[in-house]
Amino acid sequence: MQKTSEEIETRGWQDLANCLGVDPDLFFPERGASTREAKEVCRGCVVRQDCLEYALANGEKFGIWGGLSERERRRIRRQRSSARRAALEGEAADGVGA
Ligand code: SF4
Repeated sequence: MQKTSEEIETRGWQDLANCLGVDPDLFFPERGASTREAKEVCRGCVVRQDCLEYALANGEKFGIWGGLSERERRRIRRQRSSARRAALEGEAADGVGA
């Protein structure tokens, strides 16, 4: 059943997780093991973005969060950090903050 944004706001996002009751080992596969099943569970999760942002904000190094592996999250962190640097360099070049 689809959750409303009001439901998501009034309850913690973890309470609405698709993985509630699913074997946690699925989300922390051994090195080289498939992440496909875990990502399938995440695919239909209404709090996927919250989960991903939580993992990024907390530097979660292991497991599948928000449907992404640790390597995929690292890539996002790098992209965001490059974007932030580019924005700061742009501001400096425009004289913003001077
Ligand atoms: S995105 Fe995946 S790991 Fe995160 S809460 Fe949803 S089902 Fe669980």
